Amino acid sequence: MNNQLTNAITFDVEDYFQVEALRPFIEFDDWPRHELRVEQNVFKLLEILGSNHAHATFFVLGWVAERVPGMVREIQRHGHEIACHGYMHRMIYEQTPEGFRQDVRRAKTALEDIAGNRILGYRAPTFSITRKTLWALDILAEEGFKYDSSIFPIRHDRYGFPEWSPYSESVKLPNGSSIIEAPPLTMRVFGMNLPAAGGGYFRLAPLWFSSLAIRRMNARGYPAIIYLHPWEIDPGQPRFPLPPGSRFRHYVGLASTETKLRRLLRLGSYTRLRDILSL
Ligand SMILES: [Zn+2]
Repeated sequence: MNNQLTNAITFDVEDYFQVEALRPFIEFDDWPRHELRVEQNVFKLLEILGSNHAHATFFVLGWVAERVPGMVREIQRHGHEIACHGYMHRMIYEQTPEGFRQDVRRAKTALEDIAGNRILGYRAPTFSITRKTLWALDILAEEGFKYDSSIFPIRHDRYGFPEWSPYSESVKLPNGSSIIEAPPLTMRVFGMNLPAAGGGYFRLAPLWFSSLAIRRMNARGYPAIIYLHPWEIDPGQPRFPLPPGSRFRHYVGLASTETKLRRLLRLGSYTRLRDILSL
């Protein structure tokens, strides 16, 4: 496909009951009472990636890794990257800096113990590094992370930083260190950054839209970063009575996402984020 680069495909490994939209129904303390479906969905992803000769980055929640350490090792055995999605899936702007540090440290330690190697990358729950929580980047660098993929340069009710650069770049931090920020793919349309190939946007938008966004990003010389969750290929997951807006956002297109993902992977070449960033 002419000037298409190798792009990055990433998965935020949490289960269907751990997403922000379900917090009114399920507290952290209730998590152990729910059926874990994440393992079977991750194994399906490993098959999909393998059949397309693609490698990926899996941002794994510390809580999940401790419940199913064999799954983490299986991801790694297939040549994919293990990265960190925090421990409790709390949005950063609901945490103090010290609470945030404890959460990422607990998750990183758990993941490194299980994977047996160093974890380089972090993605915040619900892309919650925004203008108000930029202090989190300093903490991530201090805790040994080399890159972050938590700033979504769009407008959104829960997250977003529309003025942030849409390209993967090194950022100089107030504490004197630096970190590479690798934002998920957006496409500029009529002067606005639109989310282009991830989560509900990927499920909702036609595949040509995602492909166009990828080609445009590649034409500027930058790789595209795609993201999905294991529960997004699981139409059999238990459903909760969400309010209409978040019901749509959470459940739209679940039945067709697996096919769409397979088609996307056939259209280009995909690898781990750490390789894309030369780490
Ligand atoms: Zn998440």
